[in-house]
Amino acid sequence: LRPVHVVGGGLAGSEATWQIAQAGVPVVLHEMRPVRGTDAHQTDQLAELVCSNSFRADDWTGNAVGLLHAEMRALDSIIMSAGDAHQVPAGGALAVDREGFSQAVTRRLEAHPLVTIERGEVAGLPPAEWDSVIVATGPLTSPALSEAILKLTGEGQLSFFDAIAPIVNFESVDMDVAWRQSRYDKEGPGGDAAAYINCPMTQAQYEAFIDALLAGPKSEFKEWENVPYFDGCLPIEVMAERGRETLRHGPMKPVGLTNAHKPDEKPWAVVQLRQDNALGTLWNMVGFQTKLKHGAQTEIFRMIPGLEKAVFARLGGLHRNTFINSPRLLDRSLRLKVDPRLRFAGQVTGVEGYVESAAVGLLAGRFAAAERLGRPIEAPPATTALGGLVGHITGGHLEHGAGSFQPMNINYGLLPPMAPPKRDAEGRRLGAKEKTRLKKRAMGERALADLKAWIDGAPAQMEPAE
Ligand code: FAD
Repeated sequence: LRPVHVVGGGLAGSEATWQIAQAGVPVVLHEMRPVRGTDAHQTDQLAELVCSNSFRADDWTGNAVGLLHAEMRALDSIIMSAGDAHQVPAGGALAVDREGFSQAVTRRLEAHPLVTIERGEVAGLPPAEWDSVIVATGPLTSPALSEAILKLTGEGQLSFFDAIAPIVNFESVDMDVAWRQSRYDKEGPGGDAAAYINCPMTQAQYEAFIDALLAGPKSEFKEWENVPYFDGCLPIEVMAERGRETLRHGPMKPVGLTNAHKPDEKPWAVVQLRQDNALGTLWNMVGFQTKLKHGAQTEIFRMIPGLEKAVFARLGGLHRNTFINSPRLLDRSLRLKVDPRLRFAGQVTGVEGYVESAAVGLLAGRFAAAERLGRPIEAPPATTALGGLVGHITGGHLEHGAGSFQPMNINYGLLPPMAPPKRDAEGRRLGAKEKTRLKKRAMGERALADLKAWIDGAPAQMEPAE
């Protein structure tokens, strides 16, 4: 069998390499460190954790990333097994001894008979004789390779920064205060007259909101990040600094909207939410990219009428980050439509986080191995955390014009919703907290059952080749 080539030995590339080799397919892993470094990595180890040592919550019954852990464990993930073996105490989270963890991944891959590790940069498009390649070069993909990808995919299809606006779970928006309407009843995508959710503010509420934005603590850029501000996506606090009225004439302008609950009261300002996924479970705050610290964001954005109890699937940010416009560029098995010998995996596909990056590496590895063995497989069901992530990067996201696709962590909003139970087994009415707890558990149970059925359908396809 000809080898699959994996470019980048980070979280995603290491996991992809392992999955391919375990399926019986030879694999060459190309990692540029230590020949060439990045601005964040410190060592020459594979799967280096560049910042925190946490894989976040480990409970599959109550947390989406915990569910992703469980699914990856069920699929023989090297990142999860090395993480479990090098765990350090962290309450309900899975935190790891970073050196022990990376060394374990490196040693296991080095020792695998089907894995070859080559140290050196792939400084352009992979050579034509590599007929199956996984690009897993991460948020700090080297400039030579980024430029080659940009040339291949076209202008505007590769971002070097993320400008992230917060995303709210639909269920947590108070629709007795907010209402649905497109500006002038016509500006919505596809001419939908009720495409947006609108949250109204009085003058006093607006003034208090601006004060909070100006006073709120902001994150600093790292020196090497050197993020340019484009006028089209200025952070809201920077807009507020330019003048107290700037937001009211920009993303918060109240024109063309009538408050459905109080038609006679003209709002002083309006915050708009736009649907962010096909399921309609996630809504992003239009124009609200921000460098406010996460704690401050939650506090300040809950001052917005209708969002007092908002649950945020993602908070805002602005970082250096290389990622492609996956919903447009990739097919369901993570292949580049214009050059299907290239697959993408990890953070460069528009997922966010160590675990999510490794999860997409796991799937890309399985897809590439199955293809090499002549037994292509489908992505896991949409009800699983893995399926939800693939959905986010390959199509679940609604496109509202170039540049709207932004990276995301796994969260329950990426999975089809389930109605919360109303009563417990004894027939007593449940409180809101208990309903949410039971719903998350039910979504976890559904995901693991569906994943099991998917795995049971797959072994014949994943048997090692002779
Ligand atoms: P990486 O782990 O970065 O792996 C990519 C690999 O590709 C690297 O080893 C790199 O050397 C190599 N490479 C790049 N270009 C080439 C090339 N041309 N040829 C060969 N090799 C190449 N996520 C969290 O969950 N928690 C955090 O605390 C966290 N902190 C972060 C801090 C920073 C500064 C950054 C940039 C990101 C952070 N992330 C964090 C986000 C993200 O989850 C991690 O970056 C994660 O490592 C992404 O996994 P990956 O495999 O896609 O990329």
